[in-house]
Amino acid sequence: MKILVLNCGSSSLKYQFIDMDTEEVVAKGLCERIGIEGSRLVHKVPGKPDYEENTPMPDHQKAVELVMAALTDAEHGVISDVKEIAAVGHRVLHGGATYSDSIIVDEDVKRVIRECFDLGPLHNPANLMGIEACEAAMPGTPNVAVWDTGFGMAMDPKAYMYAIPYEYYEKYQIRRYGFHGTSHKFVSGETIRFGNLPEGHRKVIVCHLGNGASISASINGKCVDTSMGLTPLEGLIMGTRSGDVDPAVVQFIANHENLTVDEVLNILNKKSGVLGISGVSSDFRDLDAAEEQGNERAKLANEAFRYRVVKYIGAYVAAMDGVDAIAFTAGVGENNGEARKLICDSLSYLGIKIDDEANKTRGKNMLISTPDSKVKVFVIPTNEELSIARDTLALVQ
Ligand code: ADP
Repeated sequence: MKILVLNCGSSSLKYQFIDMDTEEVVAKGLCERIGIEGSRLVHKVPGKPDYEENTPMPDHQKAVELVMAALTDAEHGVISDVKEIAAVGHRVLHGGATYSDSIIVDEDVKRVIRECFDLGPLHNPANLMGIEACEAAMPGTPNVAVWDTGFGMAMDPKAYMYAIPYEYYEKYQIRRYGFHGTSHKFVSGETIRFGNLPEGHRKVIVCHLGNGASISASINGKCVDTSMGLTPLEGLIMGTRSGDVDPAVVQFIANHENLTVDEVLNILNKKSGVLGISGVSSDFRDLDAAEEQGNERAKLANEAFRYRVVKYIGAYVAAMDGVDAIAFTAGVGENNGEARKLICDSLSYLGIKIDDEANKTRGKNMLISTPDSKVKVFVIPTNEELSIARDTLALVQ
């Protein structure tokens, strides 16, 4: 059975076509600049040259049609008919307080996605467009919504409530939701499986450190706490997002710079984080290069980023009254051994010891702590598409 996984952004559509018998990616690609000039599709099939097409894509409907055409093309395609697509799994950013488990899309699911436009203004409209485009292009093929907020919905009220008047929770469901759910679910599960963690010893902290960054605490795969909140802005310092700040900062900047709340929020989302501190870049490779050349603010951004991770790990050890394993994932977590080492060096009070040789690992499952380390530390590459495809398969089988 073959499953198509779609991840629609406001002007992009990423896809993977996965054979679920082997869990191998048969084809994958990207449509970019949807709705703006210069739209482009890049379609990749293992063992074949990449196929690129520069065609106007006024909307996601057209993008989905081009993906279908690429998948069924005689030369660079991998199937002869779209009917071979058993189902489509969609990454959907926000399911509000209504949905946490993945679900086959029906009218009610679409209504909830629409009701959450406020909470995910960039992603939810694009996610819905992707679903409706698939319904039009492949009538009768099931679409499954996999919520980025799903994993965090298992948090207890004491972890998800903001200490603001309760009526705002009742009226608007203002609470902490958490994001990167498919990644935290996949990586915490893989940590238990790969690390052979026995029952009763499955307190896991997952550090998803990429351009967007978040951290979760889970016991036996069930989320206890996670760092993002009502929106992905809360928590760790990220590429361009500030993470936690005193809300009074918003008022202060708005008053002094004569900006609206929306404009300040835009700054906190897009011009802050390590980019904001360093003034160099949101990309950690650029930061490392600048730090090496003696750039003090790049160094400070890196230090602040790691310090926030260390603080959250400490908080999550407390929240779970212990930890059995810590897993690093995403761009920085999977590739940057130096960052992993520096973070873990600050956790010696937990009896953590890193094996420097194993820590040279990039991009594959690996235990990077020494045998006598009191907490196991892993690199576990995330695979959000596979996680979405597995949920989709389970629902349509
Ligand atoms: P997102 O999916 O949120 O866009 P990623 O998980 O792809 O982010 O992570 C992107 C970040 O990972 C970038 O800041 C990049 O510098 C960093 N990164 C990727 N590869 C490496 C590497 N080999 N060494 C160090 N950092 C890396």
